[in-house]
Amino acid sequence: MPAEPHEQPALHLLAAAPSETELRATIAKLVGFGTRHTLSDTRSDTRGIGAARRWVKARFEAISRDCGGCLEVITPSQTFTGKRMPHPAEVMDVVAIKRGSADPQRVIAITGHLDSRVSDVMNASSDAPGANDDASGVAVLIEAARLLSKQDNRATLVFAALSGEEQGLYGGKLLADYAVAHGWQVEAELNNDIVGNSRGQNGVRDNTAVRVFSEGTRSNETLQQADYRRYHGGEVDSPSRNLARSMAGLADQYLPDFRVRMVYRTDRYGRGGDQVPFLEAGYPAVRVTEAQEDYTRQHQDLRTEHGVRYGDTIDGIDFRYLARVTALDAITTATLGRAPAPPSAMDIHGALATDTALDWHKAPGAAGYRVHWRDTTAPQWQHAQATGDVDRYVLKDVVIDDWFFGVSSVSSDGYESPVVFPGDAGSFERSPPAATQR
Ligand SMILES: [Zn+2]
Repeated sequence: MPAEPHEQPALHLLAAAPSETELRATIAKLVGFGTRHTLSDTRSDTRGIGAARRWVKARFEAISRDCGGCLEVITPSQTFTGKRMPHPAEVMDVVAIKRGSADPQRVIAITGHLDSRVSDVMNASSDAPGANDDASGVAVLIEAARLLSKQDNRATLVFAALSGEEQGLYGGKLLADYAVAHGWQVEAELNNDIVGNSRGQNGVRDNTAVRVFSEGTRSNETLQQADYRRYHGGEVDSPSRNLARSMAGLADQYLPDFRVRMVYRTDRYGRGGDQVPFLEAGYPAVRVTEAQEDYTRQHQDLRTEHGVRYGDTIDGIDFRYLARVTALDAITTATLGRAPAPPSAMDIHGALATDTALDWHKAPGAAGYRVHWRDTTAPQWQHAQATGDVDRYVLKDVVIDDWFFGVSSVSSDGYESPVVFPGDAGSFERSPPAATQR
C-alpha cells in the first residue's frame, strides 16, 4: 500500500487545545507595559520594549523548563537606521527554537510583532497598548510554543516575537538575515499580525474565518524565470500560495466552523508585514490576519472623538476567535514539522501526448508521494493519486495542457507536505537553480 495522508487524532486534540486563559494572560501582560514602541525605554522593568522583550524571553524559558529544556531561547539583534529610525537604534527579536530530530536545518516558523504604536509613528512614549496589533500575534506564537514544545518533530520549529515592524519591518529582516546566515531552509513562515478581533469597523462580525495572504509569484524570481512562468503557468502557484492551500485544507479537515479565506495578494492593499522580508530572502511565507478589521483600533492615540472610542485596547479582543487562529497555526506547524519536506526539482513532461509524466527528487524521510492536479482556474487541488516511494509517475489519459500539476511528500505515519508546483515558480527551495527550460 503506498503511503497516504490519513486522519490524525493528534491534530484533532491539538485543534481543541489552545487556551483562552493563556492567550488573555499574555495580552494583558503585554498591554501592561504601557508602550512597546521600538524606540521606547529599554531599561525599565515595568514599561517599554525592553521590559516586554525580557518578559517574553522569561516566558519562553519557563515553557522550556516544562519540557526538560527543549527550547533554545536567543535574542538576535541588529542596529538599523531609516526613515522611521532617524538615529541608529538596536532592534532585538526574542526567538525560541525547538530543534527537529530528523531535518534540523528545515524550519517552520511562527512570527508576530511585539512593538506597538500610536497615531504618530515616531511617538515612543504615549500609551500604545497594541492589544490586537500585535500582542494577539505574540500570544498565538507563545501559546503555540507551549502546545508544540512537548512533541517530537522532524523539522525545527521557530517561535519568534519580532520588534521594529512599525518602524520598517526591521525585526522580520533581522530574523530572515539570521535564517540565511545559519543556513536555515525555511519551508514556511506564518506571520500572525492582527489576529484577535472579529468585528469589523462597519459592524460586520465574522468569527468563522481568517484571511491568509500569499504572493502569487516569487519575490526573487529572475527575469528569465518570469518569462518561462508567464508562458507555462505558475502565476498562482508560488510555494507561499501552496502553503496557503495546505492551511486551507487543514482548516477544513480539523477546525469545525472555521475556515481559511485565501487571499491572492502578498498583504492587504498598500500595507505590509514581517512576512515580506522573508519573501525577499526567497523563503515561503504568508500573512495571517483576522477576517474583519476595525481601523479605529489600529495605530491610534487613545481618545474619544465624536462618540467614537479610538485605540487598540484589550476589550477589542475576541479570545474565542483568537483561540481558533492559534489552532490553525498549531495544526499547520505540527503537520509541516512532522511531514517530510516537499519533493525538490519537480518537473513535468507530456507535450504532444495523452499522458502526463512527472518526476522529482525524493525528500529525506518520505515514505511515498502524491501527485495532485486541478483545473487551471481552480483555487484548490482537486484530484490526487498516491504513487508509492518512487521519483517518477505517469498519469494515464491526463493531458498536460489542460491541468496544473503538483507533488507532495507523505511520511510513514501519514503526514503530508505542501504540494510543490513544477519548476522554479513552485520550488520550496530558497535559491532554486537556474530554470531547466525547454
Ligand atoms: Zn502589525
